Amino acid sequence: MSTPLVELDGDEMTRIIWAWIKELLLEPFVQLETVYFDLGLAERERTGDAVTKEAAAAIKRYGVGVKCATITPNAERMAEYGLSALYPSPNGTIRAELDGTVFRAPITCAGITPYIPSWTKPITIARHAFGDIYKGTELLLDDALAGAKVELVATAAGVAGGEQRLLIRDFGAEESDTSTGIVQGIFNTDASIASFARACMTYALDTRQDLWFGAKDTISKTYDRRFRDIFEQVFEADYRGRFEQAGITYFYTLIDDIVARVVRSEGGFIWACRNYDGDVMSDMVATAFGSLAMMTSVLVSPQGAYEYEAAHGTVQRHFYRHMKGEATSTNSVATIFAWTGALRKRGELDQLPRLCDFADLLEAATIATIEAGIMTGDLYALSHLEHKRQVDTRTFLEEVATQLF
Ligand code: NAP
Ligand code: MG
Repeated sequence: MSTPLVELDGDEMTRIIWAWIKELLLEPFVQLETVYFDLGLAERERTGDAVTKEAAAAIKRYGVGVKCATITPNAERMAEYGLSALYPSPNGTIRAELDGTVFRAPITCAGITPYIPSWTKPITIARHAFGDIYKGTELLLDDALAGAKVELVATAAGVAGGEQRLLIRDFGAEESDTSTGIVQGIFNTDASIASFARACMTYALDTRQDLWFGAKDTISKTYDRRFRDIFEQVFEADYRGRFEQAGITYFYTLIDDIVARVVRSEGGFIWACRNYDGDVMSDMVATAFGSLAMMTSVLVSPQGAYEYEAAHGTVQRHFYRHMKGEATSTNSVATIFAWTGALRKRGELDQLPRLCDFADLLEAATIATIEAGIMTGDLYALSHLEHKRQVDTRTFLEEVATQLF
């Protein structure tokens, strides 16, 4: 390696797996160079969460990071770890710093069939992680506000009279039984939509997959239409030529039409989703492919920084069993793939083909182990291989290492 990876260690069972992956699958094969940040809760507490911000800045500086799952503290965790503050989600801190789009793709292998049998290739969800209802403002028109007239008001120096008003609904205009209800105000920004479009198009080129995008612009003629128009502008200005060269396409249609096409498809494309659509559809796609423990996740910033992680959390219940000295059978595949994704990206950026080859080999050895019938409990419950065998957490990693040798 010529440039180090930014390594973000984490919590609980995934922290145990993290150390074992390095010991058994990485250090015997690669002269691993990392800049290490410990995002475990104890260190976040010791540094007042400064370590998270330093790690995010380091990913920006070096370009590629790999992150272990971390606890997002709640009241129970505050007591458990004796925290002096309810620190924010590390992923939230890192996303805010990198201004990224999150891509999630399932890892598929023989013996585990998706619930939709035509899905022979993975479907990658690209979720816009900014705005809409996640930054919305809501109002309940209860009896105290019954009959209110509700308007959208924009105030700006350039507007005649200093403001523009649009009627949303006059709750007092009709009979009294329609005088109460709910209203919601949401927004997005042109800059965020354009950066989302760029992240999706760059990722489509990187992975040589078609890009699909859907919104409801027939109904939402201004809001959803704006997403459609900005995607088209970005595509025409910066990407059409490169897409044609790569032999891939950008495809827009209505969101309901996209959903129908996704179900009928064979997979193998990137599905760009508005914030809410991505929230809902990524859980649907992950479950339909089999298991959350087989889902990779990568955050891509518009400036070209990458952060790889597993989509699942710290697998708390398994950790408590591990601490009691009981055997666990925790799936390490998504965490292994976080490392291989990061190593391959580092290899591409630094032109180290042997590093990319190693990432390919480690992924192939992991899949080959499962396809040989050796798997952790979560996959054992799903697999229809005849000669399947359930192994504990560390044995699975040792079996992958045997495949590598
Ligand atoms: P979780 O850790 O993903 O686990 C939920 C359940 O899914 C587990 O109890 C386990 O089921 C199953 N599971 C998940 N990953 C698995 C794996 N690798 N192998 C086998 N089974 C697996 O989610 P959570 O329990 O909601 O959250 C635990 C902690 O993780 C929380 O403190 C949360 O803040 C944090 N979290 C972090 C991230 C992140 O850093 N990206 C994401 C999500 C959650 P069984 O127990 O039934 O076997
Ligand atoms: Mg969700």
